[in-house]
Amino acid sequence: MSKVYFASARIKKWKYADSMPGKLERLFKEVNLSTYFEKDEWVAVKTHFGSEGAHRIVRPVFLRKVVDALKGIDAKPFVTDTVRIKGLAYLEVANQNGINHLSVGAPVVLADGLYGNDNIMVKAGEIIGEIAVASLIYDVPAMVVCSHIKGHIQAGYAGAIKNVAMGGISSSHRHCGWKCGRGAMHTIGEGKLIWDEEKCELCLQCEEICPLEVIKFENEQFTYREADCWRCGRCARVCPEGALTLPGDDERFMKALAETAKAVLSTFKPNKVIYINFLTEIQPECDCMPAADVPVIQDQGILISDDIVAIEQAAIDMLLKAKPLPQSAASELGEKTDNILYDLSKKPYLIQIEEAGRLGLGSRQYELIEI
Ligand code: SF4
Ligand code: SF4
Repeated sequence: MSKVYFASARIKKWKYADSMPGKLERLFKEVNLSTYFEKDEWVAVKTHFGSEGAHRIVRPVFLRKVVDALKGIDAKPFVTDTVRIKGLAYLEVANQNGINHLSVGAPVVLADGLYGNDNIMVKAGEIIGEIAVASLIYDVPAMVVCSHIKGHIQAGYAGAIKNVAMGGISSSHRHCGWKCGRGAMHTIGEGKLIWDEEKCELCLQCEEICPLEVIKFENEQFTYREADCWRCGRCARVCPEGALTLPGDDERFMKALAETAKAVLSTFKPNKVIYINFLTEIQPECDCMPAADVPVIQDQGILISDDIVAIEQAAIDMLLKAKPLPQSAASELGEKTDNILYDLSKKPYLIQIEEAGRLGLGSRQYELIEI
């Protein structure tokens, strides 16, 4: 049975050791980082930089604690994420959200280069085939995966599996394009966007959010450069009228997440990756959206484990016990909901964890050890 260490967000004593950063330091002592990381070893601290407007990410203070703990055992950490929008703009997003060399105490670098096409094809599985893993993540020998737990319109639940899968690969490969990147999970077939003229209110939100600026309305007609489109699906997600659709398949998507996580993790030797799930500011949507809604579930705390399946199951179990927060999207569901994430997204999110277990990434049985 896998061990999952937990520090509650509730503060009972007004002293530093009982603060969230203080508890994170105590968790590192329990986990004993020297078991996983060596002196002078480069360690990727993988997080999500957020987006302009989505500020509810893993807070820089926690990344700093991770970096300091790794430095404390003489490892060489750096903080990283893969390109979601144009690379230079994404580094500026990280900076605006408080993640920079000065704040986190280590270099902040893009895992797949400024152009997001620095990657290496890795065998995935039946659904995805091969996938473009960010070259930095492919090459680095060790990783601490820092995941902000939240809901998600496509994944239902977004945690460590999604952070490793979606966050460990590129949007595009220089030869096989979107079909070797995230788009291979997001969509099916050729992934052509479908525009419904009858529903469209010409609000232009889709055009504004496209990271590649491939959407243009000409004579009130939707057009886009299909060959350049990453199939990221953001345009469809922000459309308030349901007038844009990216074809998808929920079950396939969940299984593809697990399969891709396995591909990314296959580039590490055993016991070289640990996971930290931050159950804080649990908002209903992805950190790549242009805004972050108020949390739907109260802060639960921080989980650490070396088992990606166990930590995800533990996070889900905590979220399922929590009550919807007042004045949030969850409270708008009414009193009846006993599964906030599903009721918000209508997505079968548990499949990603079941599939990760089936693929041998870890165990859904865990022992929760609270400090
Ligand atoms: S899916 Fe939409 S937002 Fe994403 S790259 Fe294609 S057109 Fe742009
Ligand atoms: S976001 Fe939707 S409604 Fe707005 S312009 Fe685009 S397709 Fe039309």
